Order: sequence, then C-alpha cells, then structure tokens
Amino acid sequence: MFNHVPILLVLSRRKIGRTLYVCTPLVLVFLCFLWPTTPTTPTKPLANRIIVLDPGHGGVDSGSNHAGLIEKDITLLISEIIAQQIALDGGVPILTRTTDTALWEIVTIHEEIEYTKVEFAQDKAAGRAIHPLDRHIVLGTRTPPRYRLGLRARLLVAEKNQAEVLLSIHTNHYQQESAKGVLTLYQTGSQQSLLLAQAIQKHLGPLLPGRPEPGIITDDFYLLRQSDIPAVIIEIGFISNTRDRTYMMSADGQLAIALAVSKGLQAYFTTQDNL
Ligand SMILES: [Zn+2]
Repeated sequence: MFNHVPILLVLSRRKIGRTLYVCTPLVLVFLCFLWPTTPTTPTKPLANRIIVLDPGHGGVDSGSNHAGLIEKDITLLISEIIAQQIALDGGVPILTRTTDTALWEIVTIHEEIEYTKVEFAQDKAAGRAIHPLDRHIVLGTRTPPRYRLGLRARLLVAEKNQAEVLLSIHTNHYQQESAKGVLTLYQTGSQQSLLLAQAIQKHLGPLLPGRPEPGIITDDFYLLRQSDIPAVIIEIGFISNTRDRTYMMSADGQLAIALAVSKGLQAYFTTQDNL
C-alpha cells in the first residue's frame, strides 16, 4: 500500500507535466484573444490630486447679499457639493472652511506682517511687481487689513495640505438685474492659472452664459497674487440676477455646477499629465 503511493505521485506529476506542456501554448493563444490590449482600469485624471476648495467669505464677512440670500452661505453649500463630486471622481478635496467662520482667528496681524515681509523680499529678488499695500505693510506705514488674515489662512491651508490647485468659490452681485453669467478670474502673469481658468470656464460657462466669451478675467487679487500654486476665483453667477440665483439654489443646478468644475479640473490635469 505505502509502496504504491510514490509511484502514483510520480505518474501523476508526469501526466500533469505533459498536459501543461501540450496545453500551455493553447491557453496562451486563447488568452491573447481575451486579454485587452490596454489596462483595464485607466487612472482617473483626478486620482490622488489634492484640490483646495475655498468657500468665499464666512463669519463676519458675509460677502454680497440679495433677496435674503447671503454669499457666504451659498459658497459653502456649493463648495461642499463640488467637493463631493471631486471625491467621487477620485480626487482629494480639501475645504478651507466647513462652518460659518471668517478664518481671521488663524493668523495674527503680526504674523501677516512677517509673511508679507518674506514675500516682499522674494518679489524684489525675482524682479516681480510689488503691490503698493505690500510695500506699505513692510515699511510699517500701513497695518494689514483684517480680511487679509482670513485670506492668508486659506493660503496656509493649501500649503499645509500640499495642494496642487486652489479654487475660491464666490457669487457675483451687481446693482442691475441684467448682469449675469459665470466668470473665472486668474492672476495676471500666471500661465498655469490661466490654463486652469480656461479649463474650468469651458465647462462651467455654458451652464450660465452671460458675458462675452470666454468669461475669463485677469486680475490682481491678494489670494491669487500670493498663491504658490495655480489659483482661480470662480464667480459662479450673480445673486442679483433671477436666472443665476434660481439656478445656483436648485439641486439640479448645484449638481451641474459641481460636475462642470470637476470636468474642468480633469481636463486641466489631463493636459498637465501630457506635457
Ligand atoms: Zn465674494
């Protein structure tokens, strides 16, 4: 009984060996037909991308208001929905605030003066234009305005999280009802921020048309100027315009806005990957 066991095992191994020898090429040929030529799960453009979303204003800084709606509330609501969409699309959204706060308490006046001094020296060394207010702060002839503390806090959130882009979400307002439409602002001279603005506006603009295309404006805002990473301010729509206001406050509109921002980001990062 025990003597037969090794013989059986040897026979079995030989049979298996022959079977594998004969079948393996056939299996490989068969698999070649079944196996896709490209990877089954291509990497998503937003995969592991750290994106800071900044709900504009907050706390004592309400932003604009119209018909009982306050900008700081709308920006928080829409930013949270955009964040959910970015996460669904594989990205890593970071919100600068999730509560009704101005973020002013995060940075002191003294710290802001020190930050400005460092940036002043960097701008001077690089031959970049110095903003008059920055010069006054460094010289000690002006105190940083309070709102800068909250904006600095937003920049620090981006830096601390090693974000790749910064999107500050706002709503627009004008005294005349006729003003309407999406607008994306970027820092003058920042080529990467321009590309980001173009990618987002391309998808977001058609939802709420209103301004002459392309709806992109170059400007010199503190948040954009001091950002080390590509940054844009997105004015989703005018709360002073009935169409824009209704759209921004509707569930369908908010979802469409979130999808458009995410698609814009995907287009931006796809371009970056292919450079
Ligand atoms: Zn605003």
